[in-house]
Amino acid sequence: MSVNKVEEIKDVSRQLRGSIVETLESDASHFTEEDYQLLKFHGTYQQDDRDLRTQLKREGKDKAWSFMVRTKQPGGKMTADQYLAMDLLAEDIANGTLRITTRQGLQFHGILIKSLRDSMQRVVDSGMTTWGACGDVVRNTMGPASPFSDVAHADARLLADELNEVFLAKSTAYTQIWLNGEAVEFDAQGDIREEPVYGEHYLPRKFKIGIVVPPRNDVDVFSQDLGFISHVEGDKVVGYTVVVGGGFGMSHGQTKTFPVLAKPLFFVKREHAIEAAVAVVTAQRDYGDRTDRKHARLKYTIEDRGLDWFREQVVSRMQGAVEPPRDVTFITVADNLGWHEQGDGKLFCCVPVSMGRIKDTPGVQYRAAFRKIAQRFGVPMKFTPNTNAIFHDIASSDKDAFNAILSEHGLLLGDELTEARKTAHACVALPTCGLSLAESERYFPDLMDEIDQSLRSLGLEKEPILIRMTGCPNGCARPYNADISFVGRAPGKYAVFVGGSIRGDRLVGLEHKSAPSTELARIVHGYLEEYATNRAEGELFSDFWGRTHVNGSAPDPEQFHVELAERAEKLAGKSGGCSVEA
Ligand code: SF4
Repeated sequence: MSVNKVEEIKDVSRQLRGSIVETLESDASHFTEEDYQLLKFHGTYQQDDRDLRTQLKREGKDKAWSFMVRTKQPGGKMTADQYLAMDLLAEDIANGTLRITTRQGLQFHGILIKSLRDSMQRVVDSGMTTWGACGDVVRNTMGPASPFSDVAHADARLLADELNEVFLAKSTAYTQIWLNGEAVEFDAQGDIREEPVYGEHYLPRKFKIGIVVPPRNDVDVFSQDLGFISHVEGDKVVGYTVVVGGGFGMSHGQTKTFPVLAKPLFFVKREHAIEAAVAVVTAQRDYGDRTDRKHARLKYTIEDRGLDWFREQVVSRMQGAVEPPRDVTFITVADNLGWHEQGDGKLFCCVPVSMGRIKDTPGVQYRAAFRKIAQRFGVPMKFTPNTNAIFHDIASSDKDAFNAILSEHGLLLGDELTEARKTAHACVALPTCGLSLAESERYFPDLMDEIDQSLRSLGLEKEPILIRMTGCPNGCARPYNADISFVGRAPGKYAVFVGGSIRGDRLVGLEHKSAPSTELARIVHGYLEEYATNRAEGELFSDFWGRTHVNGSAPDPEQFHVELAERAEKLAGKSGGCSVEA
């Protein structure tokens, strides 16, 4: 069977070079489709302003092309100086905002082709990179956001750094194209380098790794292709339970595509964690589907061939022994908002950032506040998978002054928010994302205002209910393990899913194939009312839904494409009764 088009592009790209330099040095406003595919590996997406598309077309003009540039920093870490450099980049050559990504990076929108090299150079000059932030490689390695000083968190941060190093592509294309070859000392190999992990054609699709310290599942470990769950004995991290094959992208109505939660593979001692990661990634490199990109993620390799087969593949590539996976318990995917002691005498403060968008508005000035904090205190930051910002290593004597800056700029620490609002997030979608079918980031806050009203009127403001939205089914804001989620289908229309879990360990089922945006608040009010009326004492929404609704065994592809009522009817017909497994 022949490989897909992107594989052909990679094949002749000379290690991801294509004709990117030639286009950069021409007066073209954008890149060819072939180079666009390669640009992703370099950490940038070619986009156009979709708000202007129709008008420009009517006027017979070219699209309003621009670029999204994404940084990659394991575990979301950033120094104050790096943040200030990124703030300046946003001001000088992007659209004046910084967007925290759901993989703990930062991204910039609205960069013109003439500023693309400058943007990459600024990121690299600050000591970070954009190389591998997108593309068919291991993306930014996620790690627990809370900067606690205990051994588990310290080791998770170290492991994130180690994985980042191992999986950074070796091709010199990035330095040649964006940094004019600086820092590259050519040897007998010339400009083509061996890629010991990726080989000639890199991976069949993107690959996501996350490390988590229970009981907080803040990296949404079951959504990752490869997850590491930490185990501590005494004062030592003895190893990690490895989970594999998570992934959320799908296409509406195409039952061959579906979200999957990662499954436990084995426990591995700490000293063999990197070896295990390389074995998993290379097994996917060798067996992932390169004919169909919609079937190319690790989740499908495992679904098709079986977890036992995959385990054999992985173990055969390792020297170290593995053991059965260990039990783990998670309580929430939420961040530790507000002030906390790190455990080393310092404090950290997690600031909720609405939709992860660091910008200044008349009511709230995130950019101005964060800039002032970075300048005045010089403390490091971390970005969370829930798209919030953490400042850490803060002396307790600075807490009042720190709070004063937040309050001067209209920033609050979440005490006033409903519990649902604290964890709610949405993907970027319109106007920049080329795949978006509906609004997400620009619309979700208004919808959440209405849902907040329902929560307060039903006395549910303290209940942790996980609500997420995306503008298309690709799942960037991880909608398929939320309690309630909305996934764009068409302008003003959303599929509504219910039945995931605040712990991130259960998948949703489809409730409404296509509901108008004007109906969403009413639909959610109905679910909340049902929960408020019928829940058992102390029962979480996640547990209530799991106890009272039918999804069938997961992941059943129909669960994501056929509405609950129809599924329930089928199940009743087959079994004469309803399973309550979600
Ligand atoms: Fe774009 Fe879809 Fe991702 Fe949202 S989920 S950012 S619309 S690709």
